[in-house]
Amino acid sequence: FVRSTKHGVHRGMSSVTIPPPACMLRPLEVPFRYLFGPGPSNVPPRILAAGGRPIIGHMHSEMFGIMNDIKKGIQYAFQTSNNMTLAMSGSGHTAMECAVFNIVEPGESVLVAINGIWGERVAEIAERMGAKVHTLFKTPGGHFTNAEIEQALAKHKPVLFFLTHGESSAGLVHPMDGVGDICHKYNCLLLVDSVASLGAAPLLMDQQNIDILYTGSQKALNAPPGTAPVSFSERACHKMFNRKTKPVSYLLDMTHLSNYWGNDGKPERIYHHTGPVSGFFALRESLAILAEMGLENSWSHHTEIAEYLWKGLEDLGLKLFIKDKDLRLPSVTTIAIPEGYDWKELLAYIMKHHRIEFTGGLGPSVGMVLRIGLMGYNCNKANAAMALAALEDALKQCRKSKA
Ligand code: PMP
Repeated sequence: FVRSTKHGVHRGMSSVTIPPPACMLRPLEVPFRYLFGPGPSNVPPRILAAGGRPIIGHMHSEMFGIMNDIKKGIQYAFQTSNNMTLAMSGSGHTAMECAVFNIVEPGESVLVAINGIWGERVAEIAERMGAKVHTLFKTPGGHFTNAEIEQALAKHKPVLFFLTHGESSAGLVHPMDGVGDICHKYNCLLLVDSVASLGAAPLLMDQQNIDILYTGSQKALNAPPGTAPVSFSERACHKMFNRKTKPVSYLLDMTHLSNYWGNDGKPERIYHHTGPVSGFFALRESLAILAEMGLENSWSHHTEIAEYLWKGLEDLGLKLFIKDKDLRLPSVTTIAIPEGYDWKELLAYIMKHHRIEFTGGLGPSVGMVLRIGLMGYNCNKANAAMALAALEDALKQCRKSKA
């Protein structure tokens, strides 16, 4: 009961009117799922264990040592020697916003290649911070020739060009050769999204002249969601550290983040925000696994398993959404929705009876595709066979549905 006094609620007496919720008095329950969608993917025990290590302070010297390891791991995964390499405290979108907010000033021109949802997102982010946004457009599954890109660069003279390497909503891996050179010819920086492709499809940041590259933790890297590696070239640093206006976001301001990650050459690191310590432990372990396996092995392994999956899908009579094998994203396979089926019913059946997550399309590819992702730890023949068996079963059981 509550006893009031002249000075308000009596010390030690409760003034709460909302009781503890019943759900909070029950233990946490998390089902097991095979995460064979476009992410997150299942996290191997070694990475889960790393994330479960005791917390240390975000400014402890040992933590800075772990962050330095992460930086080295990202430099290897991205194939870059950029000093301005770090992990964002946040998901892939955080890195996306960080790149746009720091590189572009209001009123500057930006060119965005849209061939699925990720270009749409970047265009919206750039628009919100006051950039002049121009777009190159293809329906999902389409890609851009270097000639098309060059023409648009010459016309719009953007300071930044955005391209998605692994378009997970369409299942397309975009050719990268020559794009960086064309951008530099027009004094434009190249920003590339590799959230769905890093570790699964070849990408060489320095050799391909990419200025800003980011990825996510939860796809082929197999870490839990919530951290996002990003790297900036010298050229990109020159632009973002010589701007007239401050970036719109304090949290994502690279002046602060570069100090937090020890990249600015200053002797002292000053508190900016409290990074996700456990998330960084897990990310370090996932980058260690990639380094142990070797990037080239990881790329060829993803291709081998993807080809096994593609053959199995075609044997089931299904049509792959991306016709050209070389343009198929090995980590996320898109299947044209088979005629006579309700895609939502197929997915629900597979989840209910096989505990497997596949997904439908995303953004502009909704209603066009089913998506199967086999990434990193999940990428093996046994899982591909399990995915095929589940799909075969669903195709038998859901046959009579209306499309
Ligand atoms: N880009 C691509 C290509 C993606 O696949 C995703 C995640 N599905 C993102 C960006 C966004 O990442 P996040 O959900 O971690 O913010």
